[in-house]
Amino acid sequence: QATLLWLRRDLRLSDHPALCAAVARGGPVIPVFILDPLTEGLGAAPKWRLGLSLADLAQRIEAMGSRLILRRGAALDVLRDLARDTGAGAVYWSRAYDPDSVARDTHVKAGLKEDGLDVQSHLGHLLFEPWSVETKTGGFYKVYTPYWKALRDRAVPAPDPAPAHIPAPETWPQSDDLSDWGLGDAMNRGAEVCRPYQRVGEDAAIGRLGWFTGEAIAGYDTQRDLPAADGTSGLSENLALGEISPRRCWHAGLRAMQDGKPGAETWLKELVWREFAYHLAWHTPRIMRDNWRPEWDGFPWNTDEDDPQVIAWKQGRTGIPFVDAAMREMYVTGKMHNRARMIVASYLTKHLLSHWRIGQKWFEDCLTDWDPASNAMGWQWAAGSGPDATPYFRVFNPETQATKFDPDGTYLRRWIAEGQSQPSQTALSYFEAIPRSWKLRPDETYPDPVVGVKDGRARALDAYENRGF
Ligand code: FAD
Repeated sequence: QATLLWLRRDLRLSDHPALCAAVARGGPVIPVFILDPLTEGLGAAPKWRLGLSLADLAQRIEAMGSRLILRRGAALDVLRDLARDTGAGAVYWSRAYDPDSVARDTHVKAGLKEDGLDVQSHLGHLLFEPWSVETKTGGFYKVYTPYWKALRDRAVPAPDPAPAHIPAPETWPQSDDLSDWGLGDAMNRGAEVCRPYQRVGEDAAIGRLGWFTGEAIAGYDTQRDLPAADGTSGLSENLALGEISPRRCWHAGLRAMQDGKPGAETWLKELVWREFAYHLAWHTPRIMRDNWRPEWDGFPWNTDEDDPQVIAWKQGRTGIPFVDAAMREMYVTGKMHNRARMIVASYLTKHLLSHWRIGQKWFEDCLTDWDPASNAMGWQWAAGSGPDATPYFRVFNPETQATKFDPDGTYLRRWIAEGQSQPSQTALSYFEAIPRSWKLRPDETYPDPVVGVKDGRARALDAYENRGF
């Protein structure tokens, strides 16, 4: 009897416990990806990036004599149809932890079990199950440092190799054509602009991990905060889609630490921030949409997405160079340096007093490394409304941040064309990428700040005081 392997954010072949279990079960394995309503609802950039990943995975699976079956519809209906058509007796997948996926998966699991199928979910997206990490009193962690201390010495099983062979069924069920799905339709800047910045698929991710943990990790402590440097792993897009497993990353980082490479432990801590985001999403699903700290409910944040200041923020035209450079970087590359994410999020929620959900949603539309849990945690951290957040009264100063982390202005020149006699190609590419309706030109005068650095800070602090914080 065949096993259906339902792929989601685990688009790889190695270190894939659900795949290994499906192969070990004996009988043919039918890998399937479903364009279900949750996936249909992805933002423009992550949806487009998903299409690249699926194309790569389909090729890799074919090279092993198997196929990736693509189907569109509600997950339970599709899996039921497939199980009936193929005579499959089991459905396996890797667990997801964000509340929308959990709700879907719970429904699917109950339905398939009713049908008498063997249904199994496996650990694959995280190092540890969120419920397996408990405080001494049996609760979950709300603060990162004790969470890290609880985990850092835990054994992480070594990554599994890819199976040598994925047994194929005698006849394959019908599959959609990936090109008919139009995953890139909402992305106005995919193939030409954004594609060169993507590192797609398992081979590319494993190659990058090898380079990073072999060489660059030693400089991670000093380089990781410099947005102009190639000083971080850049693996977030691969981790977000599961093109590489966190266990593989963990073990590579651990080996680098054992080899005495100075930045390795700091990097392992970053992988654990990702875990922490899922720990929080699992234990407090409200983090995805509501203020994690209820005392922020009713705070008079601006919620108007069409506010001219918010539009200026989205377009990278706030008149604050570091903020604008970062927003343009994201628009063109689909990614943004972590320091820059903190600064633009602080500027939106504090200087512009706009709701963090506006930023969360714009990132969701623009990031090719979009991850539901890390994005929600990052925004609530920046706004001050989240657990273990930056203190609400800490308002990043984007000018001193630029002086400190981009001292020679390389990052600003890379992304801002206005006022430069010979703007860089990257800075110009932003203007080539934007929709016509934005009506921005590289030879215009660079705008004055929509909200000045000092004024915005004072206004935010006043607003906090008025709320009695
Ligand atoms: P590295 O520095 O090489 O770190 C290795 C890995 O650790 C990353 O790939 C990532 O998976 C994880 N990681 C690192 N920092 C964090 C962090 N602060 N929180 C959670 N995980 C982390 N990350 C996403 O993957 N997707 C998002 O949608 C996302 N949205 C964010 C929004 C805001 C407002 C903020 C402040 C941060 C957000 N982050 C998000 C976290 C972080 O900015 C990125 O993970 C990081 O920039 C990715 O670069 P890298 O792969 O080179 O990371």
